Amino acid sequence: MFRFVSCLALAVLLAGCQPSDVGELDPSLQVEGPGEPAPVAEMPVGRLGDAVVPQHYELDLVIVPERERFSGRVSIAIDIRKPSELIWLHGNRLDVTEAWLEQGEVRIDMRYSQVDDTGVARLDLVAVPQAGPAQLHFEYDAPFDQALEGLYKVVEEGRAYAFTQFEATSARLAFPGFDEPAFKTPFEIHVAAPANQVVITSTPEVASRAMGDGLVRRSYAVTPPLPTYLIAFAVGPLDVVEWEPVPANEIRNWPLPLRGVAAAGKGGQLTFALANTARLVHALERYFDYEMPYPKLDIIAVPDFAAGAMENVGAITYREQLLLLDENDSVRRKRAYASVHGHELAHQWFGNLVTPKWWDDIWLNESFATWMAAKAAHQAFPDLGFEDRVLGRAIGVMNADALETARQVRQPVETNHDIANAFDGITYAKGGAVLSMFEAWVGEAAFRAGVRLHLKRFANDIADYEDFLTSLAEGSGRPELVDAFSSFLFQPGVPLVSIRLSCEGERPEMSVAQSRYLPLGSNASRDRSWEFPLCVRFGRDNDADEPGRHHCVLVDEAEAVVELPTESCPEWVMPNADGKGYYRFSLDDAGWASLAANFDRLKDAESRMLLDSMSAAWRSGGMSTGALLEVARMLAADEDREVVTAPVVDLKTMYARLAGTEEARAGIAAMLRAMYADRMEALGLGARDSDSTDDALLRASLASVLSDEGRLATLRESLNRLADDYLEDLEIAADVLDPGLVGTALRAAVEMRDAEFADGLFQRALDSTDATFRGRALGALGASENSETGAMLRAHIADPRLRDNEAIAVAFGQVGNKAQREAMWQWAQDETNLQALLDRIPTWRKGSIVAVGGGFCSNARADQVEAMFEDRVDDLEGGPRALAQTLERIRLCAALSRKYTDEVTAYFGADGAND
Ligand SMILES: [Zn+2]
Repeated sequence: MFRFVSCLALAVLLAGCQPSDVGELDPSLQVEGPGEPAPVAEMPVGRLGDAVVPQHYELDLVIVPERERFSGRVSIAIDIRKPSELIWLHGNRLDVTEAWLEQGEVRIDMRYSQVDDTGVARLDLVAVPQAGPAQLHFEYDAPFDQALEGLYKVVEEGRAYAFTQFEATSARLAFPGFDEPAFKTPFEIHVAAPANQVVITSTPEVASRAMGDGLVRRSYAVTPPLPTYLIAFAVGPLDVVEWEPVPANEIRNWPLPLRGVAAAGKGGQLTFALANTARLVHALERYFDYEMPYPKLDIIAVPDFAAGAMENVGAITYREQLLLLDENDSVRRKRAYASVHGHELAHQWFGNLVTPKWWDDIWLNESFATWMAAKAAHQAFPDLGFEDRVLGRAIGVMNADALETARQVRQPVETNHDIANAFDGITYAKGGAVLSMFEAWVGEAAFRAGVRLHLKRFANDIADYEDFLTSLAEGSGRPELVDAFSSFLFQPGVPLVSIRLSCEGERPEMSVAQSRYLPLGSNASRDRSWEFPLCVRFGRDNDADEPGRHHCVLVDEAEAVVELPTESCPEWVMPNADGKGYYRFSLDDAGWASLAANFDRLKDAESRMLLDSMSAAWRSGGMSTGALLEVARMLAADEDREVVTAPVVDLKTMYARLAGTEEARAGIAAMLRAMYADRMEALGLGARDSDSTDDALLRASLASVLSDEGRLATLRESLNRLADDYLEDLEIAADVLDPGLVGTALRAAVEMRDAEFADGLFQRALDSTDATFRGRALGALGASENSETGAMLRAHIADPRLRDNEAIAVAFGQVGNKAQREAMWQWAQDETNLQALLDRIPTWRKGSIVAVGGGFCSNARADQVEAMFEDRVDDLEGGPRALAQTLERIRLCAALSRKYTDEVTAYFGADGAND
């Protein structure tokens, strides 16, 4: 699954939940013998156990999207290992009308009842069955879900569709079963649906017959062994675009059938997505040395979807914005397509072919897919700038990992309530960064050998982290990798490596000390250590021919002395060579100064890691604002796009949080203009034939920051004017306005005009079926500081014309908007409002509702948010951790503000510009 992490609100959304202190209950249910009264069995709050193991499913569903309910008959072949008259399984909001067990000639009636709102159900049998094979039979119907999970309904332009999202625990909303990743079985699927509608599921159709009532029952090829969460359905008047198959290659000797699927009328927009799929599939097959494990590939653009995309076998689902694009779209959108598509395709091997045993190892799916997507996308699209993609995400997640309440990558998952929390930024981005660090350490080919070994060993099976690390160690021939890697899995936090260079002895040496990095105001303990490859680059003088020497050691102690393999004293030491290490570093003044003086010797990734470590030092109170900004200016003058824009995050923090006066804000705006306006001028607003990917991305980034915080008047006027051209027919020539700037132009226009304009834009978005336009318009409106516009948006959070994912984005966008935050908080004090928002959030992330209290920056506010939610979060999935993280962020912000508001205000306020 791919989650969008794009704003403060989503950062909170992705927060996890505290693991329960309750040990895992033993759900195995031994009965003393026939005739004994049923024991008072404890409901399994987590894993079901192995008393009964599913072997095969037959799903026979009737899905008519126009109706309010769907129905099904389900038969599950099971192996009874511990006979009992009570069987636990999963089912959620299913109205089961008949249920019985069949064993040979014997039929045993049973009562189905759901006993828990996470979807735990029990079967009470009238007699105890024998050990061995049996069949469970169910007849049931159920409502289509209203909040984008399970089997849910979407209506667009009067046409109804049904789609699914089953990961993690929502298959149980569609059919009864054993809804855990470890239970991989074949599925035989039949779907009855209107004859004139399309039905897509995991495998190709093999037969169909008319049923009367205008329905046709279609049957599909039996799947390879799959867990419930990877099954998918899409039903409705869908456009299906038959594309040329992904050609055979040296790994796969058969052509892979490929189709694109979208809501009626949108099939034509799938061309780009389809035409670029084969290269990703080939890149992955070659990396894994393993053919695509499934017989067909459909990619489906879903009009309303809670996650970003979902890797269902043979029927991958995406938000429309990710698949409906064309050659003329912005580079940013093409990159989003390439990396999300690469991510979902990578899951076909990591997650689908080899599945985690339990949700505590979901990092194996998500970290790996994140890391692999960057690699595959870089290979498939060498011009789209994916070289340092993993690095960018690593830097992005380090501040979240510095929270006392951060999850560890592999966090115990004891209960159904914990499962959703395992899908957070730590799992995706930190896990990916750790993979990248160890790959760099053992070498790309050796690492790949380990990955290939793992796939061969566990194909169509399940595996946990120990299996994976063993495969990596054996395949790469580096057994020491197991302990080192594990040290990053089982504790939260970012290592802070303090380095002091000394040249007093015969050879230069570094004294190295590690601890946990903590920001100002944190109450966590620093007393942690990791086992990690410390890789440094060092050089002697400023001679451009001297590239610097590389030296790596595995550090496994809290303190160590590392000798450098050179006779002479280096002038500079870069403590994170190539930026591959998932750690921050700190230096003495001389060390920082020598790196700054040799800035032009650093590689791009190293420059970014240098700024991250300096920024981290500043956020922990150990560096002055002036020293940080001095290096920020150096980066801004660099050539590389990502180096150039790296300082923007801290400047935005200063602008939004720490500038105590209008003058100080004007000073920050002036600094941004001084750093970037000339470069923006040179890039221009329109795309050029000569543009590189870096040019296009830099243009979009600079336009955004220069217009929003930099207040560059000429730019804002131009964008405002061009917004009109765009709004005329929702098109504008790319050489007039780069498509990557359209959202920024709309933001400028909304801000520079009146509430009536905003109102018109909102109505137009509601009337449109173009998900990209709707997203841009709602994003621009959400950024408005106008109180009328904010009030209008909030009034529509319950409006059914907004899709669920849009309504959620609008609500949390208000939290991220400083001018609207207080009004949004007041809005949320009304129970009816809060409930309306909660109703639109899928169960698995209802805990994210606490984000309505996010974004504040004082201890008093933290107390208010705590008071509002402390009694509610226990009932919401992910709630306790989401609240703890929201409160911690608010209090850390308060601490940062206490330390730096005066300093930042004085720095920028004194002479206005100070640049
Ligand atoms: Zn994923």
